Amino acid sequence: MPTRPCWVEIDTHSFENNYRLLRSLAGPVPECLAVIKANAYGHGLELCGPAAMRAGARWLGVTSVEEGVALRAICPDARILIMGGVFTGEAEAAIAHRLTPSVWEPYQIEQLQAAAFAAGIAAGSFPVHLEIDTGMSRQGAGLNELPALLSSFSASSPLRIEAVMTHLYASDEARSRTTVEQASRLDRALAIIDNALASASKPKYLSAGASAALLGGEGEALAELAGRWKLQPMLRIGLALYGVAPPFDPAFAPGEVPAALLSAQEQLRPVLTWKTRVVSVRTIQPGAEIGYNGTFVATEPMRVALIALGYADGIDRRLGNHFDLLVRGERAPLVGRISMDQAVLDVTEIEGVAPEDEVVILGTQGEYTVSAIDHAEATETIPWEIFTRIAPRVQRIAV
Ligand SMILES: *Cc1c(COP(=O)(O)O)cnc(C)c1O
Repeated sequence: MPTRPCWVEIDTHSFENNYRLLRSLAGPVPECLAVIKANAYGHGLELCGPAAMRAGARWLGVTSVEEGVALRAICPDARILIMGGVFTGEAEAAIAHRLTPSVWEPYQIEQLQAAAFAAGIAAGSFPVHLEIDTGMSRQGAGLNELPALLSSFSASSPLRIEAVMTHLYASDEARSRTTVEQASRLDRALAIIDNALASASKPKYLSAGASAALLGGEGEALAELAGRWKLQPMLRIGLALYGVAPPFDPAFAPGEVPAALLSAQEQLRPVLTWKTRVVSVRTIQPGAEIGYNGTFVATEPMRVALIALGYADGIDRRLGNHFDLLVRGERAPLVGRISMDQAVLDVTEIEGVAPEDEVVILGTQGEYTVSAIDHAEATETIPWEIFTRIAPRVQRIAV
């Protein structure tokens, strides 16, 4: 058990409540896959996987077969979607652990087919999710590649297309034209698929839309499109589960904010609190420099606190001299450059700061909150990256 005092507390009850809230906001979409890829957005796969199941999720989404195998050991009954495809050499494990890969490359289908034959899987009984590129140019088959790809799912193939999936890449823009265009390409892909597959092997789900699509009010449109092709809609929810409503840019006009987004902004609860402790406190005199290269110079006597937090823990080095953390319920500015394993706070104005005091890096202490969005805005990135860059050496503890 690590004893260095830099840790993350995970409120699994809030995670469960968030799942239930989002599920209720999804209304006409019955299936909400809980996205717990990248170690549950840095929150800990082993904490969030079981929490999602307790909250009623049936589907969990992870990045890779490696994550899927780890998740299978703790969630024996979950359906597990491998969102990033299957890499060469992973097909056997995907089959042995009953993982459900997303596929779009012929080699992925060939390797899974060969492994499924070798494992004696009966025709049409190993489900995969076929990904369509509806405009993001990231992963997925293009519409022109679909007919050839579909022909590899012959009647004797052990593989079955259980879902058609795509990723909406601009649903965090209010009234996005891109999402409308993607839906129309998806509709064309569904026509090709419907035409190519016999009625016994038609897919069951249409899987599209992440947190922003749900909160931006796209759920109805997804349900409508799915219904037209006799498919069940499935959303894949990530960020909002962790208590952060995705920022919309451009934002909705004041009177036009979707009801789901308003409810989420009011009711989602943060799941993660990142903490450290004061290691030592000293008084410095005018002219003293703080940290590498003396980027901060005291102009009057100061009290400064050393904390166990550095960029090797995942804090952005650019926050040195530019951000406040919380100690004794007050805001304390980071002064000087952040080191690999250490940083310094100005606690001159805060009464009684002493070694062992808890410092909140991300989360709430007393009346103040430092959110993932605050971190993201200060470092010109997005809350997803703030969470996922918290280093593995920072212990995750359920509270
Ligand atoms: C990460 C991811 C999601 C979840 O996105 P959020 O914006 O975090 O809700 C959904 N689908 C795919 C394919 C993803 O990669």
